[in-house]
Amino acid sequence: LEGYVGIDTLTEQIRKKALRQGFEFNVMVVGGAGLGKSTLVNTLFKSKVSRRVCHPEEEYKTPKTIEIKSISHVIEEKGIRLQLTITDTPGFGDHVDNSKCWQPIMRHINDQYEKYLNEEISIKRRKRIPDTRVHCCIYFIPPSGHSLRPVDIEVMKRLVQVANVIPVIAKSDSLTEEEREAFKQRIQKDLEANEIRVYPTVDNADNDEDELGNNAKIKERIPFAVVGSTSQHQVAGKSVLGRKTRWGIVEVENEAHCEFIHLRNMIIRTHLQDLKEVTAQVHYELYRHKRLETLKK
Ligand code: GDP
Ligand code: MG
Repeated sequence: LEGYVGIDTLTEQIRKKALRQGFEFNVMVVGGAGLGKSTLVNTLFKSKVSRRVCHPEEEYKTPKTIEIKSISHVIEEKGIRLQLTITDTPGFGDHVDNSKCWQPIMRHINDQYEKYLNEEISIKRRKRIPDTRVHCCIYFIPPSGHSLRPVDIEVMKRLVQVANVIPVIAKSDSLTEEEREAFKQRIQKDLEANEIRVYPTVDNADNDEDELGNNAKIKERIPFAVVGSTSQHQVAGKSVLGRKTRWGIVEVENEAHCEFIHLRNMIIRTHLQDLKEVTAQVHYELYRHKRLETLKK
């Protein structure tokens, strides 16, 4: 092995270091009131992500969300620690005047960038800056079956400028499969027509062919049609998260029933690191640039 330097040990070095530090990942849910945002937050934590023991038939009455609030759980699996924080927001869009309804949400996102920036430029810099930046924004679209509402277009237009936005069709159990598909295609057209670049944007130069191919597949599926629930039902002798409907039990974690699993896989299994990188390298960088420019003046 003449000339062997040993750079292949790098992967192990990187892995060890990353494990020691753990991972932080921050998700935010945004959208109209009553679309199931709080329920989906609970569903994410109750589903296999956090492996919390649930009691059968346990049912929460989700209280109405009146302020921006974050819930954190440390998830540990095979020695990997992930601190998952989900920020729940009050709904908007049901008032006569929806102008500026996005302001508190934009402010929250920008506040986290500001906090991070202040840590970065402080003279006594911490070894590791706590990362509270919003890595992904799940945007809830009402299951109208028609097209995007003006308020959704207005809000998403602004959100994509500052964060990674993943749109979902809320409460998709209220649509038939055909309605769902047609609605999805209409939304994709609306997004394109309004130049709303939701995540994943296709032009990441760092992506290899595999990633580009994967992202193209994901783009076809977006917005994911999701169903949220925190109650367990017995299906074929097994306890599953689901909702009772006129047609039977809709299982949250069953790919044949809805796309919750696709959403969860994307944010946790396949795109967590990329969501963090895009947040740091694109969205935060833009914020930092603008802020430092204004500080100079
Ligand atoms: P939020 O205002 O967006 O936070 O909505 P909530 O999570 O508080 O839910 C509002 C209501 O919708 C509650 O009665 C939920 O049980 C119900 N809900 C939540 N998710 C779903 C869903 O996927 N399908 C259906 N049919 N109802 C849902
Ligand atoms: Mg809520």
